[in-house]
Amino acid sequence: MENESRSVLLFFIDGLGIGTRGPQNPLDGLDDAAPLAIFQNEPADVPFEGVVVPTDARLGVEGRPQSASGQTTILTGINAPAAIGSHKQGFPNQALLDIIREHSIFLQLKHGGVDSITFANTYTKNFFARRPRWISATTAAVEAAGLRFNVVEDLRVGRAIFHDFTNALLIERGEAVSPRSPEEAGEVLASVTQNHSFTLYEYFITDKVGHQQDHETARKVISSLAGFIRCLLGNLNLEKTTVILTSDHGNIEDLSLRNHTLNPVPTIVWGKDRKAIAARIETLADITPAIVDTLTITAKASA
Ligand SMILES: [Zn+2]
Repeated sequence: MENESRSVLLFFIDGLGIGTRGPQNPLDGLDDAAPLAIFQNEPADVPFEGVVVPTDARLGVEGRPQSASGQTTILTGINAPAAIGSHKQGFPNQALLDIIREHSIFLQLKHGGVDSITFANTYTKNFFARRPRWISATTAAVEAAGLRFNVVEDLRVGRAIFHDFTNALLIERGEAVSPRSPEEAGEVLASVTQNHSFTLYEYFITDKVGHQQDHETARKVISSLAGFIRCLLGNLNLEKTTVILTSDHGNIEDLSLRNHTLNPVPTIVWGKDRKAIAARIETLADITPAIVDTLTITAKASA
């Protein structure tokens, strides 16, 4: 029955804000960058009728928005920088882990009766053999909800993708996997999404490249990512599936700065209910409640 019901994909991109046009912005003048080519004070041309909501990542807290607190906010619906008093970079500290472990979207969905949930990203043996001291917000959320981690074997059979969806970084590490074009990766993520009620995918090379201030790599990364997203959307039934793309803070859209930006981030919503969902999103704290309502109201209606 899962295939018959509603599904939601949360497509998280680290470090993508809405910037202005200009030489500092690798998105400006880049062909094939839709749906990611979104600029301040300009209507966006978004394929598959996506609705763009410029979304506040600053959350009323002084300073530049950062990854750990922004991701915690996206994944819980709680304004994490306000809760801990500052934006927290890198990996979550204990206070943020406590918020994630109690309030993650995975747990909220489980409590609402939605149990077909997956984090689409692949973990390698290294992670389990030498567990890192610091873990990402997503890893903490997966663990706390008792979800299964996808491993390389899941990727090989088309049930998972690597954060670097082309598999290039996995192959560099010596894993026996085939490279995937952005188109192939889009097909795989569409299939994973349609086989689950809720799927999360996380991509963070955008943030790394933003910190490196490397225009050429930034353009390559954005083109490839945009192609992946367009192919993903082309393979989904958007009558049944809602896709919400968002980011934790700006970065790659302004390579004149090594730091994160203060720009709003693009939340883009696709699917039948895109307008209603877009209408309730103002800040990063509005993402999780919108997804939980979308899936649990459906669960109740079909029960
Ligand atoms: Zn980040």
